[in-house]
Amino acid sequence: MSLDSHIEKVLWTQDQTLDRVTQLASQITRDFKSVPDPPLFVGVATGALFFFADLVRRIQLPLSVDLVRAQSYGSGTLSNGAPSISLDLKLDVKGKHVVLVEDIVDTGCTLSCLIAHLEAKGASSVSICAFLDKPSRRKVPIKLVGDGKFYKGFECPDYFVVGYGMDFAELYRNLPYIGVLKPEHYK
Ligand code: 5GP
Ligand code: MG
Ligand code: MG
Repeated sequence: MSLDSHIEKVLWTQDQTLDRVTQLASQITRDFKSVPDPPLFVGVATGALFFFADLVRRIQLPLSVDLVRAQSYGSGTLSNGAPSISLDLKLDVKGKHVVLVEDIVDTGCTLSCLIAHLEAKGASSVSICAFLDKPSRRKVPIKLVGDGKFYKGFECPDYFVVGYGMDFAELYRNLPYIGVLKPEHYK
């Protein structure tokens, strides 16, 4: 039973994925070059793990890294509504320029909750870097903090995608590309 045999359709290959990460990192490097204090990059566990690691290693600036965990999805493909922060940051964000790194923005509930949390802790700006965005499913608009920007890798059609950190029922995160499962595996 091979991993690839579970995939119906590849949306972005490994090469396309990493090329886009390289471009995002160059843009972020340019945008933050003139900011005097090192920015803080916060990865949203677990989905953003691989994107986060690939992204920050391509950014040519001194920076700090930390993680948060927010739970908004159960084991299936539907949101359970209000997300909660189940692992908070280790570092102090007060006065920091923070870049929140997410795998995918869907309804926007998770990011809105995390942005509000960082703003309440005194971040001086909050930017978003999401590998995928599904704007067609947005329920809550993304409100950035200060002069924060919204970086995105690709717009995603309305499929439940897996791979490059994204799971279905905690499987398929290790797929090195992004795809859609065969229907019999969404069970
Ligand atoms: P939101 O709060 O924006 O509705 O959802 C955010 C989280 O839901 C994402 O960070 C991701 O973990 C999960 N999610 C949303 N869409 C997808 C998808 O197509 N595939 C996977 N695997 N997870 C998704
Ligand atoms: Mg996520
Ligand atoms: Mg998930």
